[in-house]
Amino acid sequence: MQIYTNDDIRPGAIAGQRIAIIGYGSQGRAHAQNLRDSGHDVVAGVREGGKGWKNAQADGIPTAEPAEAVKGADIIAILTPDMAQAEVYKTVVEPNAKQGSALLFAHGFSIIYERIVPRDDMDVILVAPKGPGDLVRREFQRGRGVPSLFAIEKDVTGKARDRAMGYAKGNGGATGGLLETTFREETETDLFGEQAVLCGGAKELVISGFNTLTEAGYQPEIAYFECLHELKLIVDLFYEGGITKMNEFISETAKWGSVVSGPRVINAETRARMKEILSEIQSGQFAREWIAENEAGKGAYDALVKADSDQTIEAVGASLRERMAWLQTPKSEAA
Ligand code: NDP
Ligand code: MG
Repeated sequence: MQIYTNDDIRPGAIAGQRIAIIGYGSQGRAHAQNLRDSGHDVVAGVREGGKGWKNAQADGIPTAEPAEAVKGADIIAILTPDMAQAEVYKTVVEPNAKQGSALLFAHGFSIIYERIVPRDDMDVILVAPKGPGDLVRREFQRGRGVPSLFAIEKDVTGKARDRAMGYAKGNGGATGGLLETTFREETETDLFGEQAVLCGGAKELVISGFNTLTEAGYQPEIAYFECLHELKLIVDLFYEGGITKMNEFISETAKWGSVVSGPRVINAETRARMKEILSEIQSGQFAREWIAENEAGKGAYDALVKADSDQTIEAVGASLRERMAWLQTPKSEAA
């Protein structure tokens, strides 16, 4: 797979193009500042008095109400939460966007599940940094960048590729390395990863391990260290050097245990369910259910998220973490 860097991007790819960033949260705040510092003409489309509005003012980014920001913009980045994007598009973008402008996303959900059907004259592109906004900003400030994906869904003007790559470069993404994907691949793999492996799978693995130990009579504090706390050490090794690096650092006993017992925990049955989850993502069933849940007021969502945070492991963890001085530094000040 080709990984594009700054030299692969046409100089002046988006020169003179005005960029409106709608939504000034995790991604919006980072993109707006990075693009501004890269010399681009940026305006934040934010609701007056809102948190995003206050932050944009504090960062010295020109602000306007979302509908005003869209007028005259060449690239319109919709960086509000996914579930708010359809309404933002209908009420703010569609009536105000100039002919031949580009609609830019950091995640393909709204397009793939047809929550937004863009006007025929608009380019539709994606730039998705592989990291949260604060990292995207911090790495940029250090002269580095977070690797990013880009995709072209619709190129009406002939400028879509330059626009996506130029925006990604201005955001630091080409310093980190730019990988080409499609809206469908980005959306489906992102949803699968967060559900089966990252936020869903890893969390349930930890909770199940913790509950297995405490139900067998072991002390919850000890179970917390073994099943949650130490996970970070292992994940850091994976992250830095893959399974090979983990194997270099763990004991022979741990390695033997991992190869004989790991496949008993995550087995053919687990993989069959992963496939089921993937096919629900591919068929649009997951998206339909999540959209319906939003439309119904998110009652089930609130109850399930609360149940998750009401578990024993949470109370035990909170009191143990108070003793870990290095965790008390606010995230924004951490190295
Ligand atoms: P946030 O939840 O951080 O965005 C919140 C911002 O959206 C706030 O400025 C809020 O305004 C604004 N907003 C919400 N509703 C509206 C509305 N109806 N009209 C105008 N503005 C509105 O979003 P993220 O940065 O997390 O996500 C943005 C996109 O980036 C999503 O598509 C997401 O999937 C994608 N993404 C996110 C990543 C992440 O790490 N968070 C990583 C990669 C992609 P106010 O301040 O006024 O409330
Ligand atoms: Mg995601």
